[in-house]
Amino acid sequence: AQKRYASLRDLPAQDRNGTTISLMMNAGLMADLPSLKGSGADGVGLFRTELQFLTRTRVPRRDELAQLYRRVMDAADGKRVHFRTLDIGSDKVVPYMKPQDEPNPAMGWRALRVGLDKPGVLRMQLQALLRAGNGRPMSIMFPFIALPEEFTTARDMLLRVRDREAQLGRPVPEDLRVGAMLETPSLGFAPDSFYRECDFISIGGNDLKQFFFAADRENERVRRRYDTLDGSFLNFLERIIARCAVSGTPLSFCGEDAGRPIEALTLAALGIRTLSMRPASIGPVKHLIRRADLTELRQIIQKARNDGQTTVRAAVTNYLAHL
Ligand code: PEP
Ligand code: MG
Repeated sequence: AQKRYASLRDLPAQDRNGTTISLMMNAGLMADLPSLKGSGADGVGLFRTELQFLTRTRVPRRDELAQLYRRVMDAADGKRVHFRTLDIGSDKVVPYMKPQDEPNPAMGWRALRVGLDKPGVLRMQLQALLRAGNGRPMSIMFPFIALPEEFTTARDMLLRVRDREAQLGRPVPEDLRVGAMLETPSLGFAPDSFYRECDFISIGGNDLKQFFFAADRENERVRRRYDTLDGSFLNFLERIIARCAVSGTPLSFCGEDAGRPIEALTLAALGIRTLSMRPASIGPVKHLIRRADLTELRQIIQKARNDGQTTVRAAVTNYLAHL
């Protein structure tokens, strides 16, 4: 399949009207990085940092992590990498860091909540990231934020660590951007000041959808009942898109849906300009964007909603089938 799309690798994901969508890749392993060149991704939209913690029996050392993050930056070769700080808990269990007896781990003591309550490991990870940045552009985002002050506290911690490292003469990134993952519905309703304070926002669609529909993403039986292209979820996404437009906050979407053709085209038609996905999805998604007219698709989506269709899946599928 990769071969089939190889001729598109160096072409932009531009629709027939000239609207360009930035296609980035998700990664989490060193082994993922060769795909950056092979897939033609514009950068790494999400680098999950859990794996180095999940595969060990103790907290990794700062130097080990800095070394690994440095190799990620080297492999990216000037393309931007968005590192997500540790998101343990929920489906990612690290027995040596976190109790496993929570009744609802997905809504429990996970991700940034752990980092804010026990900042030692988070601070160590931030130092490792900053050192790996070493004069290069870098983006860092915090997972699973439910309140604006969780973001500002984490960001202030990051900036303090950066200033301290710089004072000590240690390497720090150039053009550091600090972002929030939007994975809980509450942030969709946060005050405007939250949107203004984020250098960028990345929608974690897997978690956002799970909490929007109150349907466990790990439970096949309930997960399949709810369609990402359901009108109420699209209303919610549009609200986030509009709010980011007002504050001028760059918005991306990095859940699995970004790599599914029908969902990806719908997200782009609604106005999301950056999608981050598995490397193998970049070719197929780019192929469709280049054939599509996103303005026309948007009208088709609006019409389906005005006609009272609960999901726009049939309308979008039909449009793509006739490209
Ligand atoms: C998400 O929730 O959509 C996401 C990108 O993060 P993860 O799948 O790692 O929770
Ligand atoms: Mg998530």
